[in-house]
Amino acid sequence: MLPDQDGQGWLLERRHVEALLALDSHPSLWALTMEQEDRYEGSAQKQDEREREQASRTLERIGEDEADRRAAAAADLHDGPTPDDPYALELQECPVCDYEAFSSDDGDELGMRVGTGECLVCHYRRSPAIANAIARQMEWERCWERD
Ligand SMILES: [Zn+2]
Repeated sequence: MLPDQDGQGWLLERRHVEALLALDSHPSLWALTMEQEDRYEGSAQKQDEREREQASRTLERIGEDEADRRAAAAADLHDGPTPDDPYALELQECPVCDYEAFSSDDGDELGMRVGTGECLVCHYRRSPAIANAIARQMEWERCWERD
């Protein structure tokens, strides 16, 4: 971070931050946006953990029969690709309950087909920040494998 004169750090006002971001094309300041991004992703990850915990509890509460019933109904509730909307995502496997019941409203920004939306069985919700983080990871792994 920034130099520290009195042990408390400097209090940055918004205009300072904006001025620094304006200078961000300078390589030594790249770290600034990276740190911002890390913090944003960190809180999204925490939120995602809470979502997963809550979804696991929902899954326990409803029991296996009800989960099966919801999974069977999911296909009718989900709007997959249509001629009008050919890029809509099919139901995906939910990372919490493993049913093919994750209903995406939209996909990640890289077009890796990682959905954001809600599972129709356990109600796990995946935020755009998490979908984008997963997509970036997939993209990174793909590059890694190519080398
Ligand atoms: Zn689920």
